[in-house]
Amino acid sequence: MLKGKIAVVTGGTRGIGYAIVKKYLENGAKVVLFGSKEETVVKAVTQLKDINPDWEVSGMFPSLTDATDVRNAMKSIVDKYGKVDILVNNAGISQSAPILDYKPGEFDKIMNLNVTALFNTIQATVGYMKEQGGGCILNTSSMVSISGQSAGVGYPTSKFAVNGMTISLARELGPMHIRVNAVAPGITNTDMVASLPSDVIAPMIAKIPLRRIGEPEDIANAFLFLASDMASYVTGEILSVDGAMRS
Ligand code: NAD
Repeated sequence: MLKGKIAVVTGGTRGIGYAIVKKYLENGAKVVLFGSKEETVVKAVTQLKDINPDWEVSGMFPSLTDATDVRNAMKSIVDKYGKVDILVNNAGISQSAPILDYKPGEFDKIMNLNVTALFNTIQATVGYMKEQGGGCILNTSSMVSISGQSAGVGYPTSKFAVNGMTISLARELGPMHIRVNAVAPGITNTDMVASLPSDVIAPMIAKIPLRRIGEPEDIANAFLFLASDMASYVTGEILSVDGAMRS
């Protein structure tokens, strides 16, 4: 479904991002994954090459909150491959503290990675996509971008902003044939959730109409659809993949 495409996936070293990278490779794309540290980037690339040595996958670790670093990384990718077709903004962190417990800088930290970093990567990429006649930008939102959450206000605030950026840029970039969409996962079985005790998980599962939490592959399948030509007329969409657990 993605033969010949060049994709960049931020937060591609584990969890949902890793599943997206793997799914894109299985579907013929060449992928550059971004992570926060050299060590985890090398580990993820090695793991993927062990699965299939023919997959063209490499890794970088620019600081996503540094616009110049991101611009340099994107330039080096376009210098190497001649284009960038798909940008997936998946790196993100969450918060759960009540508002009175927030420490100075904590709110800024989540906004910097979950929102400003998206602006940086998108701004660094759009010029190339415009020049090449089109492209696809995908953002990882969250079900909390619809319902909010009862503590950790920074996280839903950042994801509402992701939706706003997605819908607005779909309108701005549509005339350049650049589609912009987001996926809003529900509770997904990544490191973060796996560390929760079963007495915390069980009541959550009971509230999910499909009666299970999502697997990273469930989310990656939506990212595959939205990146592919099957979604050629889909833009400005926030696609919930949450087993209908939206509130
Ligand atoms: P994870 O913690 O397993 O992976 C996060 C990824 O982001 C890692 O690859 C990590 O390297 C990268 N990252 C973290 N901090 C970074 C930084 N400062 N700079 C660069 N990269 C950084 O998380 P996940 O559960 O796979 O989450 C991925 C995305 O999905 C996030 O945007 C998250 O908000 C969203 N999401 C997750 C869930 C869930 O239940 N797991 C639900 C809804 C949305």
